[in-house]
Order: sequence, then structure tokens, then C-alpha cells
Amino acid sequence: MTLAVCTACGQYKFGALVRCERCSHLPVTALDKAKAMTVSDHNFGGETLEEFKNLIEAGTELPYDPVSLASSSAPFQEEAYFEENFDFTNGMLSCKRCNCPFEPTSEEVFCPRCMEQANPLLSVCMSCDKVYDSSGNFCQKCGNRLIQRSERRALEVGREIAVSVRRILSNKDPLEQCELLLQLRGQLPSEDLASSQHEFENFAMYTAVMALRQFVESGELLVAIVKEMVEIYRASFVIQGVREVDSQQIPVLYMRRFDEYDRVVARNPDQWMLLLADTVTKNCYGVERHLKAAMEMVLVTGFFLKVMQDVCRSILMGREAPSPKAG
Ligand SMILES: [Zn+2]
Ligand SMILES: [Zn+2]
Ligand SMILES: [Zn+2]
Repeated sequence: MTLAVCTACGQYKFGALVRCERCSHLPVTALDKAKAMTVSDHNFGGETLEEFKNLIEAGTELPYDPVSLASSSAPFQEEAYFEENFDFTNGMLSCKRCNCPFEPTSEEVFCPRCMEQANPLLSVCMSCDKVYDSSGNFCQKCGNRLIQRSERRALEVGREIAVSVRRILSNKDPLEQCELLLQLRGQLPSEDLASSQHEFENFAMYTAVMALRQFVESGELLVAIVKEMVEIYRASFVIQGVREVDSQQIPVLYMRRFDEYDRVVARNPDQWMLLLADTVTKNCYGVERHLKAAMEMVLVTGFFLKVMQDVCRSILMGREAPSPKAG
């Protein structure tokens, strides 16, 4: 049974989504439910839960991470969509993506066609670390039979990668070793700092896209995953108070940057890392063709690519990198 803390009053309760016996708070909205799941033993050990309990009882708002909240509230949003739109008289639901009516078999919110396009199950080739949507049976590279990863779907992968990118950035400052970049960031006027940080996070996402490409052969599957990563970031802005209508621009801007970086990489296959680093330094700190700054960003890029590769492998393949053989 899940031990959880009431997000409203701090009381312990069994079951994150049940009503609190002390204050009667019941998580109803998708966001409330996501918060309730966050402060449970699904995510934290007993000591941390005790700290949360004390904070809430002292009236302090917990520092929820909006990207994690966006990711964990997404399934609850689908649930809510189903409850609001399912027609009990004829057993039909309008597809959340294309609006076409269909007959759901469990509580899925996409029609069969959209499910296949936007949220396919994944199949993996264990011998060459490649991931496919579940339509084929054999690896297109080596011909081996693919293993279908039960319950592993594209949207969930996109959500997990988005959360991982945020976690990597908040665990430790990736610029820690970069003397000049730290200085450039430190010189930014405070009103520019937030947008510079968003640019930097966008770049971290782009390195995740690059890492994904090593595993995902199908362009459609890649798009489905990347769209969801970006969607989670959009939703995280809404959670932070950006209006839904204004947030629609965010995925467009993110995708535009990905395109820009793709073009830079394609332009010069020999020196792409330096050119990419230079473009990122320009976008984040307004400094261009500065060799030392770009070299420091090359190190950051290398670090990101390495960790994103590990993240993607473990999320897509369900396993860690094969350990290098001894000797
Ligand atoms: Zn309570
Ligand atoms: Zn549909
Ligand atoms: Zn293969």
C-alpha cells in the first residue's frame, strides 16, 4: 500500500489518491493527483516524506518540479478526458487526437489509427540496440526477431526523457567546469537569465534527440517521442502559470531550434561539434565566434550526449549500457 502525505495539510495517509481523514482534501484535478503521487513512497523514502510532512504542516509550498508534474499528470489528464467524453449510451469515444469516434476496448483515448501513429508500442532488437514501432517482427538491420516491450509506448518514453533532461540539469550545474561560460552567464542581466536558461535546456533536449536517433530507426516513431518531450515542456509552462493559449507557441519555438541545430550539424560533418557549440553559445549567452567559449560548450555537449545516450538506452531498451569487457 502506498504511504503518502496529504498535499493540503501534511497528514500521512494510505493511498495517494484517497481523501485525507484530517482535512478532507481529495485530489481531483490531474495536477492535484500528480502532486499527490509525487509526495508518496513511490518517489521518496520515509525520511524525505517526513520532511515534506513538516514543510506542509508549517505552511510551506513544496518545490514541485513543473516538468515532473507535467509528466505525471499526463496519464491523469487522459483519464479525465475519458471520463468526460465517453458516451455510455453507445460505448463510443471521440479520439483525443483526431476527434473520430471509436469504440475503446480498455480506457484508451486514441483511436486505433492514432494509437499506431502517435503512441505505438515499442519493439526492440537486443543485438543491435535498435527500437522500432511494433508493426514489424524483424530487425531491419540484422534480421533478428524483435522483442516487443510490453506496455512501453512512445508517449511514455517521451515523458520519461523530458523528466530525465530536467533531472540532469538540476542535479548539478553542467557549466561547473566552464570558467568562461559561467562568467558569461553571470554577466547576464537578471531579466535575460531565465530565457537563457530555457535556451540551454532546449539545447540539452536537442542532445537527447541526437541520442534518440542512434536507437530509433523510424522517423515517425522519433517524431512521436520528440513531440511528447516538447509537449511535456509546454505543459510545464502552463503549470507555472503561462496561459494555455500562449503556451501553444512553445513547441513551435523548440522545434525551430532543433531544426536550426540540425542544419548546423549537417553543414559541416567534420567540425559539427564546434559549430554547434558556437551556435548554442550565441543562443544562450549572445557570444559568437569566441573560440574559448565554444570549446567549453563542446565539453558540455560531449557530456550531454554521453548521459542522454545512457538515459535513452535505459528508457528504450530497459537496460544499461553493456559493461566494457575486462582485459
Ligand atoms: Zn489533509
Ligand atoms: Zn484518432
Ligand atoms: Zn538488429
